[in-house]
Amino acid sequence: MKFVYDFHEGNKDLKDLLGGKGANLAEMTNLGLPVPPGFTITAEACKEFLKNGTQVDGLGTEIDEHLATLERDMGRRLGDANDPLLVSVRSGAKFSMPGMMETVLNVGLNDASVDGLSRQAGGNDRFAWDSYRRLIQMFGKTVCEVPGHEFEDALHEAKVAKGVKDDVQLDADDLRALVTAYKKVFVKHTGHEFPQDPREQLDLAIAAVFRSWNADRAVLYRRQERIPADLGTAVNVVAMVFGNLGSDSGTGVAFTRDPATGEQGVYGDYLSNAQGEDVVAGIRNTLSLADLERLDKKSYDELMQIMATLEGHYRDLCDIEFTIERGKLWMLQTRVGKRTAAAAFTIASQLVDEGVIDLDEALIRVSGAQLGQLMFPRFDLSGDPSPITRGVGASPGAAYGEVVFTAQRAVEVAAQGKQVILVRRETNPDDLPGMIAAQGILTSRGGKTSHAAVVARGMGKTCVCGADEMEVGQSSFTVGSHTVNEGDVVSIDGTTGRVYLGEVPVRPSEVVQYFEGDLDPAHANDPLVYAVHRIITHADEKRRLTVRTNADTGADAARARRFGAQGIGLCRTEHMFLGDRRELVERLILARTDAERDDALATLLPLQRADFLDIFREMNGLPVTVRLIDPPLHEFLPSLEELAVKVAVAHEHGQRVEHDEQMLAAVRRMHEQNPMLGLRGVRLGLVIPGLFAMQVRAIAEAAAALAAEGGKPRPEIMVPLVGAVQELETVRAEAEKIIAEVLGSSGSAGGSDSPGSSAVEILIGTMIEVPRAALTAGQIAEAAEFFSFGTNDLTQMGWGFSRDDVEGAFFWRYLELGIFGISPFESIDTDGVGRLVRIATEEGRAARPGLKLGVCGEHGGDPDSVHFFHEVGLDYVSCSPFRVPIARLEAGRAAVESEGSDHR
Ligand code: ADP
Ligand code: MG
Ligand code: MG
Repeated sequence: MKFVYDFHEGNKDLKDLLGGKGANLAEMTNLGLPVPPGFTITAEACKEFLKNGTQVDGLGTEIDEHLATLERDMGRRLGDANDPLLVSVRSGAKFSMPGMMETVLNVGLNDASVDGLSRQAGGNDRFAWDSYRRLIQMFGKTVCEVPGHEFEDALHEAKVAKGVKDDVQLDADDLRALVTAYKKVFVKHTGHEFPQDPREQLDLAIAAVFRSWNADRAVLYRRQERIPADLGTAVNVVAMVFGNLGSDSGTGVAFTRDPATGEQGVYGDYLSNAQGEDVVAGIRNTLSLADLERLDKKSYDELMQIMATLEGHYRDLCDIEFTIERGKLWMLQTRVGKRTAAAAFTIASQLVDEGVIDLDEALIRVSGAQLGQLMFPRFDLSGDPSPITRGVGASPGAAYGEVVFTAQRAVEVAAQGKQVILVRRETNPDDLPGMIAAQGILTSRGGKTSHAAVVARGMGKTCVCGADEMEVGQSSFTVGSHTVNEGDVVSIDGTTGRVYLGEVPVRPSEVVQYFEGDLDPAHANDPLVYAVHRIITHADEKRRLTVRTNADTGADAARARRFGAQGIGLCRTEHMFLGDRRELVERLILARTDAERDDALATLLPLQRADFLDIFREMNGLPVTVRLIDPPLHEFLPSLEELAVKVAVAHEHGQRVEHDEQMLAAVRRMHEQNPMLGLRGVRLGLVIPGLFAMQVRAIAEAAAALAAEGGKPRPEIMVPLVGAVQELETVRAEAEKIIAEVLGSSGSAGGSDSPGSSAVEILIGTMIEVPRAALTAGQIAEAAEFFSFGTNDLTQMGWGFSRDDVEGAFFWRYLELGIFGISPFESIDTDGVGRLVRIATEEGRAARPGLKLGVCGEHGGDPDSVHFFHEVGLDYVSCSPFRVPIARLEAGRAAVESEGSDHR
């Protein structure tokens, strides 16, 4: 196997092998852009390395060969004492993992070649020693795990001793002394001298990049982002170019469009006389590209031209890293850039207008998760709160919470169920757990390209960075006359960058207002709203899945309809038995005679009828699936312990409490060890005579009433927890009789042609949520006009997981071990539970062509699951009202994607 590729040999489509960075460096090389020469060691080599623990056969020889070519190209030898070639060793996986993997610059420098480097740079000692101290720092930290702060402290001391603020103010002698200090730190922590052999430096650095694939924080990030754990990382070895050669040199990052808003026009940060990550780390305040234009017009013009080339080539927003060495521009990285949700929609829509992509592609380039982010609430500023400071709005959203100053505190306080805002001077990869735990992130340094900004955008977390008026201390920050201590509440606006004291109220986002149909006129021409509108409209045209909602009240139904729901896939009837109706249910359960029970049911009937009529009216003309009562009966009764104590206390006092005693007996009778597997669903309906009958009658009467008003009710009666066709047949026989009776007497039975009465059709079907039902779907379909997959219970019973217990108890461990990448309750387990869905779909349809199939679990609004349901061939998904737009979008994407794969 070939393990090493020259930049001339690769291209952008080889990301699996060369990683994103390597593939794009090759692409830019082939486009003729100024990329320093170099080569990429493949991710395959990394996988081999991690498998064996060391040494990959043949890799050393291949590196020798490519290094020799590089040395020939550059006319210099690695680490040569008189005229050294220096290289960077850079990680680069298939998916970009900001800050996760490490880079070492200036490899090849040692006590001898540092003088050679100085001569190369025309006697620039300062530059040479600066480069050397950076090598020891980066090498120490990433290759040998020396605590980074030790180097930072030494640098800080050097600046304090000299009485200066910036590292650029340190001269050659200061830096030479710093190298001595760094070497001491190095020996102290590693027990050996800093390696002087350039080739040894290179090999150690390569091995460190390989190993960093499995560093804790890389593992954590992959889990967060659902990146597979077995890809490995490529390693890029690149000839160094120098941005730290003086004021005519520098380094920067840029975007071809604004990654926060999507606004057209380049955006970037530049630092002169700097190297590598100085810009991203927010060490000094950066300059803008406009400043660069003034400083170095020629490089600026070339940069603009290259950015245009890259955008045209990749047909999308690109981000780039560049360095200027004495007025010569070098490209060090590019990729299709990360962006906020708003920018994703806006840019996709702009590119359609620019004729670069069509609407299908625009749809593919956005996601339901992004749309979900745009539906987050915004701050309501009508109370005119005044910000205490402002930074860069780096990742949008409105977040408030208690201020914490360390990642660890963020995790602790969040674990108490509180919202926290993580405040840091700047973040680094070690802060990741705290960033995940926090509601939002606030930093005093760095711009839109800082670690905090990039990671927060990736996670969809609100982030304000570079609020440089803030002085961040150990357990408080000050800004102007304000001191904010740990535990105080602040609100941060990730769009405007404003920071407020206390909790600012929030209001619905423009996108939600658009869906609600009451958009504030000020936003009617908002490019984002327009982009969402045209892309979701296109999704609606493309999608094959219908999207319904889960709603139990008229109000929810109405809202979901505005969000585009095409019916109700799950109307739960349980809550209709709570509140002041509890007492009726108690009567029902405690009834000693048929008469008592019938009386309780008769009282419930008109209440249920009114519930259904309300919902049918809101969904006039659209299907409404009503699920007959599902949960275990004991949920309606008081707790066993409380009641037992109450009765015992009464007895102590010699009192008789007849009602409580009866109730206690009933609760005891109904107590279950495993209620989720007990007397619920259809089982309950078969045990309590008249209960389902009352509900069916209420549904039929409500339908008849709406039809009489001239409406078009389309009820579907759904029987829960069926495992055997006999259960369904029994319920069905009774239900059909009641329906015929009600509709017959009201003159609206199906097929009736009596004038003035529209035909009402009521379907009867079942949930498929017990594995046995899925496996006997062919039989069950004989008695069902529709199936609705209850994927929550199907997952619960398919895996044997008690949902309420397992998620908190041990799912973290399962996720950690990679037994699954995401909770199967969040995204459907396509292999196992999904297989049950597939079997039931195929066998159900074979038994009854035209069987209607849908899903009503929480999975109905999960993007990945929606794609799966499309592929399996369901007719609809149903989800909570706020997820309806997300499901519409994803169903459209699934349709476009499968068209694409059909064409292949
Ligand atoms: P990351 O994946 O964190 O972006 P990179 O590998 O891109 O890490 O390297 C970090 C920094 O070092 C970048 O700012 C990059 O521009 C700079 N850098 C990397 N290689 C070179 C090189 N050969 N010459 C000069 N600067 C380099
Ligand atoms: Mg890095
Ligand atoms: Mg980079």
